[in-house]
Amino acid sequence: MSIRLTPLGRMVVPVLVLVGLIGLNGWLSATMGRGPWLDVDKVFHLAIGIVVSWVFYYLLRQKHDAVPHYGFFGAGMMLGASGWFPLVSQGLLFSALPDWDITLFGIGSHRNPAFHSALIPFFLVIGLLHYRGMRDFAIGLSVGVCSHLLVDLCQSASSHPDWYRPNFYPIVRGMYGPFAVLWMLGNALIAAGLAYGAAGRQPALVRMEREGFE
Ligand SMILES: [Zn+2]
Repeated sequence: MSIRLTPLGRMVVPVLVLVGLIGLNGWLSATMGRGPWLDVDKVFHLAIGIVVSWVFYYLLRQKHDAVPHYGFFGAGMMLGASGWFPLVSQGLLFSALPDWDITLFGIGSHRNPAFHSALIPFFLVIGLLHYRGMRDFAIGLSVGVCSHLLVDLCQSASSHPDWYRPNFYPIVRGMYGPFAVLWMLGNALIAAGLAYGAAGRQPALVRMEREGFE
């Protein structure tokens, strides 16, 4: 049996998901430290995330009629680029997904290469490819992570002009400078390509609906 949502239902479901996630976050936050409500660095990460998303939609529209749902995409993009910091003040959802290395393992693990990579978006995009709304969420997340990696790279390289020194790891933990630059650029590119590829593959049902064959 398949569930067909009315236009109102399509608006209500993302809101319910958001409320559920905020509730989950509150529960997780109970055992974690507090964070400031508004953080200049997070605002900057979000602003660049919005710019990168705009470019992504622009490029997508050059080849495809159907684009990801703005609400699902935006929620994912925000989580990947900056975290949901204006909505929640602590816990995992407060931070961008790549920075969960700090939340989970402490500041000593920051810029963990597994988190500052396309690894998590890859599994989410592949795993959620056939679930319409969640797929768009994962695509947004992937674009957000791409943007986050680019911002982190530029910030680290500019604040540590000697980033290329051996045994000095300001960009990615435990990774020699030039490799770290390649790592961040390469993974940003993979995350963007993954999102673009997934967004171009509209499930058949969505295609029919948009073309008016309902
Ligand atoms: Zn980061």
